[in-house]
Amino acid sequence: MCDFCNIATHKKKAHIVYETEKTITVLDIEPVNEGHVLIIPKIHVDSIVDLADEYVLEIAEVSRKLIRTFCEVYHASGYGIMQNGGSNCALGHFHFHVFPRFPDDGYDWIYPEGVKEVSENVVLKLKRRFREP
Ligand SMILES: [Zn+2]
Repeated sequence: MCDFCNIATHKKKAHIVYETEKTITVLDIEPVNEGHVLIIPKIHVDSIVDLADEYVLEIAEVSRKLIRTFCEVYHASGYGIMQNGGSNCALGHFHFHVFPRFPDDGYDWIYPEGVKEVSENVVLKLKRRFREP
């Protein structure tokens, strides 16, 4: 069992903020800002592609509740949502980062070096293979 599975089954301690039948929300141990949480589904998959719809919907609902809470508790002016999936998923267990944002809080995207194409070619490349589930 991975650490997130152990947190989800209360075998490993974590600072639990909120829990539902399908998810557990805990404080991130390396927060971007105070209040940074991880919403962890109670199922071990590493990609949103493998997550059943009801989990995706519940994670979206929990995210909205947390963002409303950030506004009330921290008077946050914004928020961040981040998710790394597949081989980039820590512990191989899907999780959603949600954190409050403030002007000049120092958090930002980091872009790798190199020029990336932005064109209709890219749009066509994606559209050709895009399909409904
Ligand atoms: Zn797991």
